[in-house]
Amino acid sequence: MSNHLSGWEFRCERCGERHAPSARLWHCPACGGALAMIGPDRVDTRSIQHDAPGIWRYGNVLPARPGSGRFLGEGMTPLVSARVDGHEVHLKLDSLLPTGSFKDRGASLLARFLRDGGIERIVLDSSGNAASAMAAYAAATGLECVVYVPANASPGKLVQARAFGASVVPVEGSREDVASAAQRAVEADESAMYASHNWHPVFVEGVKTWALEVWEQLGYRKPDLAFVPTGGGSALVAAWRGFSTLAEPGAVLPRLVGCQPAACAPVAEAWLRGDEIRAVSPGPTLAEGTRIALPSRPVQIMDAIRSTEGFADAVSEVEIVNALHLLAGQGIYVEPTAAVAVAACRRAIERGDVSEDDLVVVHVTGNGLKATDTIAALVAP
Ligand SMILES: [Zn+2]
Repeated sequence: MSNHLSGWEFRCERCGERHAPSARLWHCPACGGALAMIGPDRVDTRSIQHDAPGIWRYGNVLPARPGSGRFLGEGMTPLVSARVDGHEVHLKLDSLLPTGSFKDRGASLLARFLRDGGIERIVLDSSGNAASAMAAYAAATGLECVVYVPANASPGKLVQARAFGASVVPVEGSREDVASAAQRAVEADESAMYASHNWHPVFVEGVKTWALEVWEQLGYRKPDLAFVPTGGGSALVAAWRGFSTLAEPGAVLPRLVGCQPAACAPVAEAWLRGDEIRAVSPGPTLAEGTRIALPSRPVQIMDAIRSTEGFADAVSEVEIVNALHLLAGQGIYVEPTAAVAVAACRRAIERGDVSEDDLVVVHVTGNGLKATDTIAALVAP
């Protein structure tokens, strides 16, 4: 790999083993744990390349270069304010990224990283936003994209990925069976790589730019609290990575809040129990993007919450719907998964966990246009 990766390493969250960054690794070869990426990424106002577009204004602290793909407009989404039960909160509108979700940040970086590493074909398992984002940035970097999906996945969720030219392979069985099929396909093909947003550490490095942008947009201030929809945990762990790069030694990080639907809340349950994340049996939820029984990065997720003195919370389906309407009533259209974080923010305000002068950010992870059928049922006359 090229020399801009000097100083970067992959570190296993489970066994601590360190590995040189490689386009051939997606998890720890020693123990199978998730990898974190650690690098020379201290950020201050001088690190920003003001003439570079989107996320690439932070190119100095990203482990890939923009030149290996076409820019699609990823990054520098608006930070707008909204009223939540009398409090002003700042909404980071990653719903306005090119494919409609925050995953564009990670997909843009990961596609370039893999392309630079000699990969020709990316394989992933997803039935939603990650498939759309990876397919778009595969198209923009000249990679082939193959998406493994559950055989019962809603065809409408795959329209975007298909439009970008991805091949879709249906797999019978559980969500884990689908992931295993994708992983096996890669083992049999030297030119292919597993590009899962749930596993790949480079994906998180791209997503961390949302936190850096928030800091810049707040006038180089960190918020006091950040509410983040949490399923696989990439947006939450990325917030921790991003805000940590800004920390002066001893500086206080924003309290990170992992927000989940009660129907599938392994992180919130672990936080309440005060121990580690265990698999749950997911119930039905409108917040499909957070319906993950056992996240791949359990150690990083809990570290992100505990080391920032944050917390996790689980919200009901009614609270999700009410939060979606609350934003829509202010002209902001989000998918139910994004509404989970607004609902959790609202609960925190009601409990008195947010004070009047707290600077609060909610990560709006996905556009309402992603969930037209679901929202149609909620606004039926
Ligand atoms: Zn390991």
